[in-house]
Amino acid sequence: MSTCALFDLAQEPDDRHFEMGDYQGPVARWCSGCGDHSVLTAVQRILADHQSKPEKTVFVSGIGCSSRFPHYLKTYGFHGIHGRALPLSTGVKLSRPDLDVWVVMGDGDCVSIGAGHWIHAIRYNVDMVALMLDNNIYGLTKKQTSPTTPQGYKSNTQPRGSYLPAMNPLEATLGVTNASFVAQTAEWLPAHLFATLQAAHAHKGFAWVRILQRCPHFTADIFGDVVKNPNQVELVVHDDGIRVPALDKMFEHQIEHDPSDLNRARELAEPADRIRLGLFYRDESRPRYEETRHLPHHSADEKIDLLAREFERYAV
Ligand code: SF4
Ligand code: MG
Repeated sequence: MSTCALFDLAQEPDDRHFEMGDYQGPVARWCSGCGDHSVLTAVQRILADHQSKPEKTVFVSGIGCSSRFPHYLKTYGFHGIHGRALPLSTGVKLSRPDLDVWVVMGDGDCVSIGAGHWIHAIRYNVDMVALMLDNNIYGLTKKQTSPTTPQGYKSNTQPRGSYLPAMNPLEATLGVTNASFVAQTAEWLPAHLFATLQAAHAHKGFAWVRILQRCPHFTADIFGDVVKNPNQVELVVHDDGIRVPALDKMFEHQIEHDPSDLNRARELAEPADRIRLGLFYRDESRPRYEETRHLPHHSADEKIDLLAREFERYAV
């Protein structure tokens, strides 16, 4: 397909073939060198590889630099409000289980204002891919301290340095009952990023991926060294997890870890000398809310009727 007109798709035959360009929207307006560009490219490649139907794919975001994501894709999208991407996406998936739902959040969005939703989305384990693009700062609001800002790091809200130790979202996610997929990757390693997103997309359940993301505009120094020095990275590898042979020569530090082992995953998520990237935990047998709740299917007319009756109950 050379163009992708969503509203005409219902009439098109199902032997359509999609190229990456069929998912590409307008040119992204992130800063030059921003890690969000790599994530967008990786996601578009996944969609093309998977031949995802644009009219069956939805990207939901909150507020932040990375939350502009849905604007740059020719799929359905919902640019929501700060911290509320997860309840929105949960609603989308529960009412339309046939849709492929992705959520894109920043660190402030996911683990600060959206923290309550984050914890319960893990527990509900609704089938979707949730990406947390973590640049350790609020970028859109011009360098404000976020929960993952390193302690002592100067920002516009804490000019003498962040007072508190940075939150570890990996540990927190792995601590929530019913977590089913927890991974960490980095946007400057496209092969690893792609393999991680592929595994997350294939997962049945809530696939939560923390993507370490460079923000050259406000936090260029945070990931500067680790990008240049592979010695500061340890790959978490396993045949049932994420293994990228193309990276073997570059990364001598690798640790074998069976992603079904939750206790070991929690140990590996603790702060270490090196940043660990890979699949920490996966368990597809965890109950998914959309399955256990058995939501009845309603047609659009039935839903309108239902809403009208509810409004009627509260009418004065
Ligand atoms: Fe990216 Fe940072 Fe620029 Fe935002 S401020 S677009 S995160 S480089
Ligand atoms: Mg951020």
